Amino acid sequence: MNIHEYQAKELLAKFGVPVPAGFSAMSVEEAVAASEKLPGPLYVVKAQIHAGGRGKGKFKELGPDAKGGVRLAKTADDVRAAATDMLGNTLVTIQTGDAGKQVNRLYVTDGVDIAKEFYLALLVNRATGRVSMVASTEGGMDIETVAHDTPEKIHAIDIDQATGFQPHHGRAVAAALELKGDLAKQAANVASKLYDAFMGTDAEQIEVNPLAVTEDNKLLVLDAKVAFDGNALFRHKDLLALRDETEEDPAELEASKYDLAYIKLDGDIGCMVNGAGLAMATMDIIKLNGMFPANFLDVGGGANKEKVTAAFKIILSDPAVKGILVNIFGGIMRCDIIAEGIVAAAKEVNLSVPLVVRLEGTNVEKGKEILASSGLAIVPANDLGDAAKKIVAEVQKAA
Ligand code: GDP
Ligand code: MG
Repeated sequence: MNIHEYQAKELLAKFGVPVPAGFSAMSVEEAVAASEKLPGPLYVVKAQIHAGGRGKGKFKELGPDAKGGVRLAKTADDVRAAATDMLGNTLVTIQTGDAGKQVNRLYVTDGVDIAKEFYLALLVNRATGRVSMVASTEGGMDIETVAHDTPEKIHAIDIDQATGFQPHHGRAVAAALELKGDLAKQAANVASKLYDAFMGTDAEQIEVNPLAVTEDNKLLVLDAKVAFDGNALFRHKDLLALRDETEEDPAELEASKYDLAYIKLDGDIGCMVNGAGLAMATMDIIKLNGMFPANFLDVGGGANKEKVTAAFKIILSDPAVKGILVNIFGGIMRCDIIAEGIVAAAKEVNLSVPLVVRLEGTNVEKGKEILASSGLAIVPANDLGDAAKKIVAEVQKAA
């Protein structure tokens, strides 16, 4: 689960991480009022969307010469102008895709004079099973470019969560950022507080870019991207309140309400499968047969009629879907029950594309009978290979 920058900074501040003062605003008047509460003489007006690259982004409605989604302002009038430009308009950044994202909220912060920008992130290193701190002197800009062109400028420091953050980790971060004296101490402190925040919230990622050194030698988090591990959110009811559903993909949001694991992909074949491993195998075999999956969808072990119907609706709400492949293994759930669910769901949603169903497991013969006598144009398949061949053939025939 992702959150906005303003929420991330408020959260990090609670863990003792130094951030500039700021207030969020949903109207021009609120933005101006926010700036009046700040000391000045510099303010930063920042679009709040779940995507980075805002500074270099462009507003669809404003033309190519207009400034992006992070603007410096010196007066209340500047703040007003920036807020008027941004609110309600669509910001396109390298992370939003061409459609961009509508800006509904701003964050007005105290502006600082920057001497140097660093990069500092915490994430889970899946290879070592530890928390990794990634530090680079090359902050402010696109870290992917740094990683690609000058990988030696990126340092990763692993922390064993059994022993936690140690003073030597702090020194390693300071060394990676080439800081000495008081700034090195500040860097170690920021790193330690970020580690506390990471562990304390079951975060998946905390990315600070830039971590800035100000002209008066203070280290400050100027931008923060925080994502939590969705599987741990049950332990953090307070964090759930930070969810902004307007930022989420509508189909993925709908799927989460039915406890379906759904991820939209770029292909043409909608997949409905039970079990993540089977879903992956199904996607692979579709590719092997020359087409691409339109989604990953795991209906889970207890797939009942309601879930199957919801899954069908979600798959069909994607205009790219030209055919559906259902691949279900009836273990705990019997095949005849699943077949009844598929038939009922297909009738309810007015199936408009070819549907191939492969069932295997308990009561499979009964299940196939139900599909065959349903009166629906369901193409039965005997195994996974057969199913993939058939759906590709059906879609090509219909084209
Ligand atoms: P992003 O483009 O979405 O990553 O948004 P950031 O919050 O990182 O802002 C982009 C850039 O704006 C930063 O890299 C800074 O160079 C600049 N910026 C942000 N806050 C301030 C500030 O307080 N003072 C100054 N001078 N520049 C800032
Ligand atoms: Mg940034």
